[in-house]
Amino acid sequence: MFIKTLVFGYPRIGPQRELKKALEAYWNGKSSKDELLKTAQTIIVNNAKTIHGYEIDSVPSNDFSLYDFILDHSVMFNVIPERFKTIPDALDRYFAIARGTERLAASEMTKWFNTNYHYIVPEIEKDTFCLLENKPLKEFQLIKENLGINTKPVLVGPYTYIRCAKLWGDKAFELLIKLSQVYRQLLQELEKKGVEEVQIDEPAFVTDLTEDDLKAIKKCYDSIRSGVKLRTYIQTYYDSLSEYEKLVFSLPINGFGFDLVDGADNIEKILKFGYPKDKILIAGVVSGRDPWRVNFREVVDLIERLSKVTDNLILSNSCPLLHLPITVEAEKEHLPKEIYDMLSFAKERIAELSILKTIINEGMEVPKQNLSIHEKFNNPKIRQKINKIDESKLQRQPEFQFRYKKQLEILQLPLFPTTTIGSFPQTKEIRKLRADYKAGRITKEEYLNSIDKEIEKTIKIQEEIGLDVLVHGEFERTDMVEFFAENLNGFAITKNSWVQSYGSRCVRPPIIYGDISRKKPLIQRETLYAQSLTEKPVKAIFTGPVTILQWSYPRKDIVKKELSYQIALALKEEFEELEKLGIKIIQIDEPAFREGLPLKKAKHSLYFEWAINSFRIITKDAKPETQVHTHMCYSDFNEIIDKIYALDADVISIEASRSKGEIISAFEKFKYDHAIGIGVYDIHSPRIPSIEEMMDIVKRSLRLIDNSLFWINPDCGLKTRAWQETIASLKNMVKVAEILRKEAKNV
Ligand code: GLN
Ligand code: ZN
Repeated sequence: MFIKTLVFGYPRIGPQRELKKALEAYWNGKSSKDELLKTAQTIIVNNAKTIHGYEIDSVPSNDFSLYDFILDHSVMFNVIPERFKTIPDALDRYFAIARGTERLAASEMTKWFNTNYHYIVPEIEKDTFCLLENKPLKEFQLIKENLGINTKPVLVGPYTYIRCAKLWGDKAFELLIKLSQVYRQLLQELEKKGVEEVQIDEPAFVTDLTEDDLKAIKKCYDSIRSGVKLRTYIQTYYDSLSEYEKLVFSLPINGFGFDLVDGADNIEKILKFGYPKDKILIAGVVSGRDPWRVNFREVVDLIERLSKVTDNLILSNSCPLLHLPITVEAEKEHLPKEIYDMLSFAKERIAELSILKTIINEGMEVPKQNLSIHEKFNNPKIRQKINKIDESKLQRQPEFQFRYKKQLEILQLPLFPTTTIGSFPQTKEIRKLRADYKAGRITKEEYLNSIDKEIEKTIKIQEEIGLDVLVHGEFERTDMVEFFAENLNGFAITKNSWVQSYGSRCVRPPIIYGDISRKKPLIQRETLYAQSLTEKPVKAIFTGPVTILQWSYPRKDIVKKELSYQIALALKEEFEELEKLGIKIIQIDEPAFREGLPLKKAKHSLYFEWAINSFRIITKDAKPETQVHTHMCYSDFNEIIDKIYALDADVISIEASRSKGEIISAFEKFKYDHAIGIGVYDIHSPRIPSIEEMMDIVKRSLRLIDNSLFWINPDCGLKTRAWQETIASLKNMVKVAEILRKEAKNV
């Protein structure tokens, strides 16, 4: 047996987040377009060089993007919303679609499958498809010129692209066929210029597919491949391929790639149904999503099993490596050795593939590994508590109607209460302050004093704006997950291990290695201080268990449900202490509630059960007069509105502005009779929203939601904004509430 290796989806932010810095400098007018493009080229070439350096047989290209790879495809295929066409410069237009401008609302952004990567949703207004530019070719040539190697361009497949898009009208299949002609042209051009193979990513193939989907996919690939000789592989990931036999045996391509880590069912399917002799099987054996070292023995055994079905085998990563930080080396001094030794990030994944190849092809002995460190950090007390949870008794009492009435009496809120989601601008100074404290350049006292000053300023500003429910501003938090992980046992925090979340935004996912419990109170000091400064209610805010779990790297020896319950129990302690300290409103943020949903419908109910239970574990014993809020953003929540309702939060604030109020239509089908704040403006854009546009969203919502249940808020936290635009936007927002109150009086 002789195997080859390939790699794809290498992180594009650069080892020192060069891309982020270059983008932000360009946006702020501090550097030129040329400088930005130069940085991009350096990253592209260096990534290829790294991969090539490990003797990977097939080095990818076109997995770089200046902002988002889906947006790259849109621009390449001329899917450019009409409103941006007046921007003459192509690069500025590209960023305008992604981020909006003062005048133009950005395109919607949403989560890429069940990951924490966000893409810019294509707005397909009509079939204007044509090949405007050949970006894959440019990258192919760039690497060729610099390193002399022939790379394999990676594209997002047409089916996945259409599935990710927003279509006007019910024309998905028609559009798919039209688009396949552009793909064919693209492949033909690549072929002419000496490209020998391409990879087409179709992660949507792991979602549930109908007969119509299958027919359309077949037609589409027949069309793409007619007259194209270039070796073409389809890569699937994030779960197992749906309709294995129907796709694997029928599509006219040279090979299929499978995620054998998160889609382990693929293995059974391959063994059961066999594999076509004329196709290559790409086995995704090293994870692109979890940071734990590969178990060489297991993979070697797996290859042995697969070799009974095919001898055309290539080993690869299981899904794009962009979900991992670049290299664990960056943490050598920051992580405890026993944890450090367990980890593999993007670069180490490539090394693992290279080792596997040597084991298989050259008969090297399988290295000895000690992979069972988690047990050391188990906590029997927590395990016991989890066992005692009675899942049938998580219902909060009394019912919402009674609770809400009581809450309103105590809180004395006006009709259409206004609030924000929690964070206020995280300025350079704030970030420096936290960094200084962490590095020991200032004392704890100095640090806390400065944080308190920010809280004072923020409370004052909110009072001046006229908001009804105030927040402390979240200045102590680097990130809504990392901050909590830092204060919980069982989590390791990294220092330099950044992962792209969207555009220039990067996060450092914490790593769960042991059982979880609270180290100390989490948010009490800041919340209480804020409350001491004002007569208005201050809401306490912490991140919920599902989101903390979803945005961390979980250990893999226990199931997610158990991890989520462990986090919930820790947060429950915090919740109950906050109540005792007199806090009247507590918000549990769950922006990743939808994102954690498995890609196959058959797995949904199990997920919802534990996700909802986790929330209820925290709130089930809440006093009736404590108002429980939750917040969700950045996903399509329409289909799961009943599950959101099942959380039984008193008030939810939910994103709606960027998707132009789409969530509102969900309430036509489902009577949502708890309080709700539809996000009335998009905080991801520096634009100041007008009263009219916010009023428009509100008015549409009020047709379906009762006045007495309606809250007014932005669609997410304000941390990425500057103060000036924040104040101006919130003032307009408060005016909306004032107008509505007046109108309500006059009826
Ligand atoms: N409370 C958080 C904030 O305002 C929520 C962030 C989020 O939903 N992503 O920043
Ligand atoms: Zn949010």
